[in-house]
Amino acid sequence: MGILKNLLNHNINKDSVNEKELDDFKKANEKLRQLDKTKSDFISLASHQLRTPLTAIKGYVSMMVDGDFGEFNNQAISVLKRVYSANEKLIQLVENLLNVSRIESGRLYFNFQDSKIEEIVKNAINELSHSAEEKNLRLIYKKLNKIIPIINIDEEKIKNVIINLINNAIKYTTRGSIIVSLKANKENVEFCVSDSGLGIRHEDMPKLFKKFSRGLGMSLVDTEGTGLGLYVSRMLIKSHKGKIWAESKGSGHGSSFCFTLPIKKKIKNK
Ligand code: ADP
Repeated sequence: MGILKNLLNHNINKDSVNEKELDDFKKANEKLRQLDKTKSDFISLASHQLRTPLTAIKGYVSMMVDGDFGEFNNQAISVLKRVYSANEKLIQLVENLLNVSRIESGRLYFNFQDSKIEEIVKNAINELSHSAEEKNLRLIYKKLNKIIPIINIDEEKIKNVIINLINNAIKYTTRGSIIVSLKANKENVEFCVSDSGLGIRHEDMPKLFKKFSRGLGMSLVDTEGTGLGLYVSRMLIKSHKGKIWAESKGSGHGSSFCFTLPIKKKIKNK
């Protein structure tokens, strides 16, 4: 009987210890969740605050390059173009950070509307032309079908993806050209960026679209990279019920990044 009593007491103690451990664990977990939310809120707030002045800089510098405030000599124009490109990189970084914090906090909302994706592609090429020029790269647009249908998308989010992909092609290409193409079949519109750049090692392929993931040695080629662009792009294309992928014959053989978006599917705004 004594032994049974001892055993029972032991189990009661063990249960209460487990309960306490569980309770502590729950509290610690809740605290971590709160901290994570504070971090996401901070990134979101800081990014929002940065967006407005960066957009103002973009507008004014672009007007200066276009001669709206009088003529500048070639040297000044070339400096202004560099300011424009550097500012574009910052805008894209802020945009990616904002989208990551939206994804993580479950606040990624969409404004789907019928859109001409070709206009978005042309605008993006226009905005990145100075960055390509700086590296002596040819940035070419190819429309592979006569008609590119209107599709139901969130224009801002798809522009973010397109800029990420063209920006990468510029970053990871030292010479040659970058071809941006659009084509369509009955079901999808397909966008591709092909470059004659560094290419992708076979081993790097599976992790490209993961958060913070960068190919081996890429931090030497582009010191400011974050490894967020492709992660954000994949999440945004997934939300549009599309597909995104990379192709490369290996290191030194250039690469292509493509995505498709469905033509007929209407996705509800949320
Ligand atoms: P980041 O460019 O900041 O590193 P991304 O998420 O945009 O982040 O890209 C992740 C990785 O994918 C890059 O570090 C690079 O290794 C690889 N990558 C992306 N685009 C290209 C490209 N056009 N050519 C070669 N590698 C690329």
